[in-house]
Amino acid sequence: MRNRIVAGNWKMNKNFFEAEELIAQIADSLGDIQAENKIVILCPPFPYLEMATDIAEDAAFAVGAQNVYPDDSGAFTGEVSPAMLASMEVEYCIVGHSERRKYFNESHEFLARKLDGLLKNSVKPVFCCGELLPEREAGKHFKVVEQQLHESLFHLTEDQISDVVIAYEPVWAIGTGMNATPEQAQEMHAYIRSLISAKYSSKIADGITILYGGSCNAKNAAELFSKPDVDGGLIGGASLKADDFLTIFDAL
Ligand code: PEP
Repeated sequence: MRNRIVAGNWKMNKNFFEAEELIAQIADSLGDIQAENKIVILCPPFPYLEMATDIAEDAAFAVGAQNVYPDDSGAFTGEVSPAMLASMEVEYCIVGHSERRKYFNESHEFLARKLDGLLKNSVKPVFCCGELLPEREAGKHFKVVEQQLHESLFHLTEDQISDVVIAYEPVWAIGTGMNATPEQAQEMHAYIRSLISAKYSSKIADGITILYGGSCNAKNAAELFSKPDVDGGLIGGASLKADDFLTIFDAL
């Protein structure tokens, strides 16, 4: 049985006290017992990770970072390494979010290096892929996602890829209020799983969690998550309100 996950990507939002309150609210509602294959991941900004991992010690959620630099240490002013995340018991890290691809020009090759660094340090990557609107309109969405997987992910070994969570996030759906339909999400998730199956094996493909992201909210989560290859969601805006985020988790 593969893991079902709801992950909150807070992006660059909330001051420290607001973040602490939101994490405490979510922790209280979740209690301290994690359901066997249902996982909540909270990805606050870097300065709040230690506070989050402290609360997580007695709560049923895991902590993720939103970004990482590939190397373990060195002269990279302002950057944070996989080894640093591991030393703080950060379990997950988002890689390849479309905002980083767009605003920070992160290439397929650079993302591949981030994946290597994280996996070397036993931090699980949440690898984002997805097409732009013109690419979907031109019918190129499958090719675009295939290239993203081939160039950043498919150099990994079977053991390594089994530790990766994939998030399909059509860029046109992120923060726009225009989510992919459950059918569009299912079609792409099944395609991603078929690519993993062809490259590795059906056993590996069946075990990999594939999340949907892009305007997923308390109203549409249940329908999206009802699709057989949609194993949960990577949630942006709706992860900033405890009630909405918990409703999304209940939809898993
Ligand atoms: C995201 O940024 O990963 C995301 C899915 O954002 P939103 O839910 O706000 O569309």
